Amino acid sequence: MCLRPKDPQWNQALDDNVASQGPQGLSLRLGGMRVKSAIYAADRGRFTRSRSRLVSRLSEAGIEDERVLEAMGTVPRHTLIPEVLWGEAYKDQALPIGEGQTISAPGIVARMTQALALTGDERVLEIGTGSGYQAAVLSGLVASVVSVERIPQLAHEARKNLDTLQVTNVTIHEGDGTCGWPSSGPYDRILVTAGGPELPEPVLLQLKVGGALVGPFGPRDAQQLLRVVRQDQKRFSQQTLGACNFVDLIGEHGWAA
Ligand code: SAM
Repeated sequence: MCLRPKDPQWNQALDDNVASQGPQGLSLRLGGMRVKSAIYAADRGRFTRSRSRLVSRLSEAGIEDERVLEAMGTVPRHTLIPEVLWGEAYKDQALPIGEGQTISAPGIVARMTQALALTGDERVLEIGTGSGYQAAVLSGLVASVVSVERIPQLAHEARKNLDTLQVTNVTIHEGDGTCGWPSSGPYDRILVTAGGPELPEPVLLQLKVGGALVGPFGPRDAQQLLRVVRQDQKRFSQQTLGACNFVDLIGEHGWAA
């Protein structure tokens, strides 16, 4: 069962996290620098040109946020997928990562990251860790990321992958992300990386006023990428960013397993 707003622990969980937010900028910058040096060690330049061509294609396709383009050019996507697929890593396509799940295509990762309009200080909730790629991209752009994955094996692999890249500002939890992760909230931004039938209310309620959620919602054959902004305690505004195609968001406030 999700922790709900009327449960006594709800406000306590949110308050504790507001109170415990410290200066996060240092860990952001350290996180980003460490990612770069760890990548250099893991990559030895083998895919540098492929990544820079990917960045050019993303830019031509309308990604304008320089920080997002830099992050996309930095994270070694090939290290987050099975080695037999490394040759495909920098094409704009989703790829299998096991357990019937996929790593999202770089184009949609860049679009969704740009739609979050990040400035660097944010605490972000990601629902659907998968390979850890989106979390790695976010790690260099924000203060901290809390990422929730329902499949334990994927959560475990993603943690290993991010440790290899020395990403220190991403926390991964196993669980049903349709309930959000209230004990670490509220969040400045929320990114949902699996497609749900509708916006999950408990997740929306973990968004700070002024914060934004981006994710795919709607019927399976007609998913739309939505951007939702919390206007005040009760009101949310919604913008449609276009059609998309994601694997199912499965859980109490998503599709049935
Ligand atoms: N962000 C991932 C990446 O960069 O590799 C891609 C995510 S993949 C398209 C969607 C992920 O959402 C899958 O790993 C799936 O298991 C996960 N998922 C689906 N429903 C979920 C839920 N209720 N809570 C947490 N994760 C969920």
